[in-house]
Amino acid sequence: MPTTPSDAIENIVVSLYQVPLKKPVSDAKVLTGRQTPLSHVAMLTAEITTRDGARGLGFSYCLRSGSAALFAHAKELAPGLIGEDPADIGRLWEKLAWMGGSISRTGLSVQAIAAFDTALWDIKARRADLSLGRLLGAYRTAVPCYNTSGGYLSATLPEIYTAIEASLARGIGGIKLKVGQPDVEKDIERVRAVRQHVGNALPLMVDANQQWDLTTALRAGRALDEFRLTWIEEPLSAHDYAGHALLGSRIDTPVSTGEMLCSAEELYLLLDQQGARYLQPDAGRIGGITPFLKVSAQAERQRLNLAPHFLMEIHIHLAAAYPYDTWVEHIEWLEPAFNERLEISGGCMHLPERPGLGLSLSERAAGWLEATAAIGR
Ligand SMILES: [Mg+2]
Repeated sequence: MPTTPSDAIENIVVSLYQVPLKKPVSDAKVLTGRQTPLSHVAMLTAEITTRDGARGLGFSYCLRSGSAALFAHAKELAPGLIGEDPADIGRLWEKLAWMGGSISRTGLSVQAIAAFDTALWDIKARRADLSLGRLLGAYRTAVPCYNTSGGYLSATLPEIYTAIEASLARGIGGIKLKVGQPDVEKDIERVRAVRQHVGNALPLMVDANQQWDLTTALRAGRALDEFRLTWIEEPLSAHDYAGHALLGSRIDTPVSTGEMLCSAEELYLLLDQQGARYLQPDAGRIGGITPFLKVSAQAERQRLNLAPHFLMEIHIHLAAAYPYDTWVEHIEWLEPAFNERLEISGGCMHLPERPGLGLSLSERAAGWLEATAAIGR
């Protein structure tokens, strides 16, 4: 019997970057006064080095607030990995979760774990000399992708048309528009205008960012049915699982949701209620690759479509390894932090062939470094 080679985690560098957006963006939560325009993404990275010289890079993020706490908690967790075998990813996820047990297994505590968990998967795939998607068992080498960045409520219709042209020229296959303005008629007219402008063939999605109640969502959903949308995203409060299910049963357009849920357990509750036809988990928000795979296995049981939220650099791998139809969300916010670019053509994002996630931090990222800590031997 061959013995399993063991290695040991020797060193971890945890860093926090404030990655600026080219232009602040607003969705419905800003229009209704609940949030301010988004100007930065706080990116937490974990760079893990082992005794045998293996290296892995993982990351997660938060928006607007929480970054100091996220970084502080990651610093508290990192010593728990020193000396451990990097192959034991499931056990190590549990170990870190137990370290933060009193602050729960959702939200910030698992978002700190996500950076480590992703770095450990990166190591595992690099060792196998496979991209993460191929390590997990890819069903395809390219995944349809859609653009969100051009369709914010802060953009005028002419700006949206220009952004759509740029997206299509780049090879991106679908376009998502933000809706959820206080006057729902304005949303409907905006979608009508865009649908007329682009024609019926282009995949078009809308995203209400949780701003409707059930009555408004039913009215809007029925009115929007005529535009043959790929989905209506987050029509209701993210935790109104039953409401999403009821809405989905009353309109033709598929309902999508799940991005604001901050653990696998929360996504299981949504799945139990059959609240979404397109499930939108976010590996960074729910604790990394390990919990994402558990969620996608449950989604597969229900034969749902999968459209992970944000983090295209990670989700291209996870979407490629899902059996049913998937979309990847093209949001370029973190692109400048990495040296590599994802290849996009023919409406699809291509699975990188580089080992692991296939990412390295760029020199530009160093300029956005806010805090860093080295833990280890
Ligand atoms: Mg969304």
